[in-house]
Amino acid sequence: MTFIAVRCPHCQSDQSVKRGKTARGTQRYLCQNTLCTKGSFLLDYCNRGCLPEVKHTIIDMSLNASGVRDTARSLHICPNTVLRELKKKEAVLESVNTAVLRTLNPAEVAWDIERAGEAEMDEMWSFVGNKGNPRWLYAIDHRTGKVLAYVFGRRKDDVFLQLKALLEPFGLTRYYTDHWGAYTRHLDPDMHSPGKQNTQKIERKHLTLRTRIKRLVRKTICFSKSIQMHDLVIGLFVNRYAFGRAV
Ligand SMILES: [Zn+2]
Repeated sequence: MTFIAVRCPHCQSDQSVKRGKTARGTQRYLCQNTLCTKGSFLLDYCNRGCLPEVKHTIIDMSLNASGVRDTARSLHICPNTVLRELKKKEAVLESVNTAVLRTLNPAEVAWDIERAGEAEMDEMWSFVGNKGNPRWLYAIDHRTGKVLAYVFGRRKDDVFLQLKALLEPFGLTRYYTDHWGAYTRHLDPDMHSPGKQNTQKIERKHLTLRTRIKRLVRKTICFSKSIQMHDLVIGLFVNRYAFGRAV
C-alpha cells in the first residue's frame, strides 16, 4: 500500500479532507487550516494558470520588462490569465507611501527636518491606446530618494492638485520641480524652487520605470491598451519596489 502526503500548496498544511471532484474527474481537496487564504486545491493541476508558483511568476515578470503576451508565451498560459491575475492586485494598491508616513511622527521630524521636509516633483509622459490619449505619471521624490506618492491623469492642474492633497500629511517645506505652469500656479513661491539642479533623483527613478516596465519603453511598439492596465502595472511596481509593500 502506498500513501501520498496531501499538502495544501497555499499554506503547506497537511490538515485536508476530500471535497468532491472537478468536471474532469480530478480529486479536489479542502484545506482545514483556518488561517489558509485559499481553502480548496488539487494535487496536480492540468491548467498551468492555476498553479500558485505560475501566479507569482506572472506578477514578477510584468514588473521585470515583460509584456502581457511575453509572459503568456514563456509560461505557456493564456494572455487572459495574465490579465486576470494582474487585475486581482488592483484592490490592494495604495498611492501614498504609508510606511514613510508612519515614521513621520512629531518626535522624529525634529531631528530629521533637513531631509524630511523637501521633495522633488516631476511628470512622466506615457500613453494609452494611441499618442492622442496621453497619460502623465506624477511621481514625487524625497531628497532621500523615497517615492512619497503618485497620481495618474492628463497633464492638467486638477491632477496636480490631487497629488498636492496626497502630500498634505508629509508636511513638506520645499518643492523642487521643473518649470511647468501648474507648479508655479499652485505652490507658494517661498517654498518652490523650479529648475534642473534638484530633480536628478526623480529623473533617475523615471529611467528605472522606463527600463523595467515594458509599456513605458520609448521607441518601441509596446503600449497599454487600457487605462486600467496602465495604471495597475505602474502602481504595482511603485507599491512593491518604492513603497516596499508585499504585493
Ligand atoms: Zn491551506
